[in-house]
Amino acid sequence: GAKQRGKNTFQMYVRQMSMSLQQRVEMESCLRQAVENHEFTLFYQPRVDLRTNHCTGAEALIRWNSPKLGLVMPADFIPLAEETGDIVSIGAWVLREACRQAAEWRAGGLGDIHVAVNLSARQFADTRLRETILEALEDARLPGHVLELELTESVIMRQPEQAVHLLSAIKKTGVRLSIDDFGTGYSSLAYLNRFPIDIVKIDRSFIRHLPESHSDAQITSAVIALGHSLGLTVIAEGAETQSHIDFLRKEGCDEVQGYFFSRPLSAGDMRIFLDRPVQPGRGAASLPHCTD
Ligand code: C2E
Ligand code: MG
Ligand code: MG
Ligand code: MG
Repeated sequence: GAKQRGKNTFQMYVRQMSMSLQQRVEMESCLRQAVENHEFTLFYQPRVDLRTNHCTGAEALIRWNSPKLGLVMPADFIPLAEETGDIVSIGAWVLREACRQAAEWRAGGLGDIHVAVNLSARQFADTRLRETILEALEDARLPGHVLELELTESVIMRQPEQAVHLLSAIKKTGVRLSIDDFGTGYSSLAYLNRFPIDIVKIDRSFIRHLPESHSDAQITSAVIALGHSLGLTVIAEGAETQSHIDFLRKEGCDEVQGYFFSRPLSAGDMRIFLDRPVQPGRGAASLPHCTD
């Protein structure tokens, strides 16, 4: 519920504020060199179609292997990279690497496994974004429709008028657009549909307490129904249990991404996952713990 969401935000701020100035300066300089030093890696979290039980795509999630700081999760460096502006070059690397990987899956006869990439506010404000996307697609020889870009409500709502233009321009490259973490901002799905979006991803804070939480259940059902009436594909994030899946399937949710099917995987483990039929409920238990 809302309390948990508030707590997470609070913890994030505490984490950032408790960093001493010296630590911050050190982390900044480490971060600046990290792209050149090839310290980033992408994990991939499979997404499963609830009707066919097939893996239709994966979200690319960045990890930072810092020789000084160890393994750093995105929540602990993306906000800093966003502040310093390093996110623009980091994000360009993510786009290139995710497209390269999707092209490799295609070439390996695994079909069109869509790859979803997160875009931050700073990247979205970068005037070269469209070029960066086109270059990543061209270099990988990947058709646009295989790539998805995830944006949060707040990123779009920062400058809604400009967002309409930029998103329309980006759409012409063929990529699909999704609203990430839907429900955590303050905009309505009907309003967001004025932007050329294809997919809505329901934030995992609404899924966590299903089906017991009456309000979360109502919100989730409403988003699925409205999403469908607007012609959108609806994806639920953070499905961890059989009862989450049962509820989402009953409500007609299209796809699910969550620990129930799999945690985020290294490229190597993702390859193994794609070679096997999806085993519901086995993903979380049978594969190595990579995050959280
Ligand atoms: P997100 O885009 O909403 O990604 C989903 C997050 O939820 C991932 O965390 C994933 O590991 C986690 N997750 C997925 N299923 C479950 C589940 O069943 N239970 C729980 N408890 N968690 C689940 P991760 O990888 O730590 O990423 C956190 C956030 O960092 C992402 O949230 C995204 O906002 C940001 N991020 C990650 N990679 C990138 C990137 O390349 N660029 C940018 N700009 N942001 C990124
Ligand atoms: Mg995302
Ligand atoms: Mg999300
Ligand atoms: Mg999130």
